[in-house]
Amino acid sequence: MLFVPRTATITDYAMNTVVSVTVRSHSAAAAAQKAIDEVKRIESLMSATVPGSDVYRINSAGAGASVQVSGEVYELIQMSLNVSDITDGAFDITVNPLSELWDFNAADPKVPDAEDIAECLSLVSYRDIALNPAQSSVTLAKEGMSISLGAVAKGYAADRAAQILRDEGVHDAIVDLGGNIYAIGSKRIGIQTPFKSRGEYFTTVDAEDCSVVTSGSYERYFAADDKIYHHIIDPGTGYPSASGLKSATVVSKSSALADALSTALFVAGEDRADSIVSSFDGVYAVLLTEDNRTIEVGTK
Ligand code: AMP
Ligand code: MG
Repeated sequence: MLFVPRTATITDYAMNTVVSVTVRSHSAAAAAQKAIDEVKRIESLMSATVPGSDVYRINSAGAGASVQVSGEVYELIQMSLNVSDITDGAFDITVNPLSELWDFNAADPKVPDAEDIAECLSLVSYRDIALNPAQSSVTLAKEGMSISLGAVAKGYAADRAAQILRDEGVHDAIVDLGGNIYAIGSKRIGIQTPFKSRGEYFTTVDAEDCSVVTSGSYERYFAADDKIYHHIIDPGTGYPSASGLKSATVVSKSSALADALSTALFVAGEDRADSIVSSFDGVYAVLLTEDNRTIEVGTK
């Protein structure tokens, strides 16, 4: 009997974004569905808003309580802390109280009061997260502190979805979590032009068995007093970062790392990009500046 490869695309909604998995293989639809199921499993572990998730339990445990978590969440927090160290805090998963205050998902978001921003800012420091490897547990030092893996979990989910597909014997696929891409096989990935309709690209990246992740001010924002307030917060100021970039794209074998670094580079800006990227092996970045310059950093 002759098996003919088929192409199947399954699109669903998870992790606050459109998830689409396209697979070309003998049992394409079944493999794509397994990948989508894996993304949903990770959402249920890592969402800050799903009661019972590891992150939810960390945030609701209170200061000083040690919360045992899955090895996956533990390692992702550990990786996040490493990126915080290397970026001198430009990347910080403890910005969550600020994200909640700004509430970019609200129907009618507003610029918060400066005093409220200052109060939340006093709760932000990745150094106040303690990890206990023997117990695989996480402890937050300050009352009111909370974390969000919003800047890394989609990347981790893309890594896992890609692994599931490989385990299914797939050699040709694209996993797309709202622009957070994993390419299995050789693909040309377009990089979205900020503030233009989806699918309008300012450049492309040739990717083979690796991930391409973009962070940008255009992804989630509101406008007030002729200014744009976007969802990536500068943990130094409590306000949306103003580093002079429209977007930061990172290419890496690890989508979790690419996700963390794209957010980090977006906050850190072009001047610090070289030293950050060179701290990691096999990472390549494309920055788009507000004055429309394209800057390439690292090795392809
Ligand atoms: P991304 O879309 O991957 O760039 O991640 C943005 C999301 O990460 C936001 O919606 C927040 O939940 C969270 N976040 C915002 N600012 C930061 C930051 N400086 N460091 C880490 N996470 C952040
Ligand atoms: Mg990110």
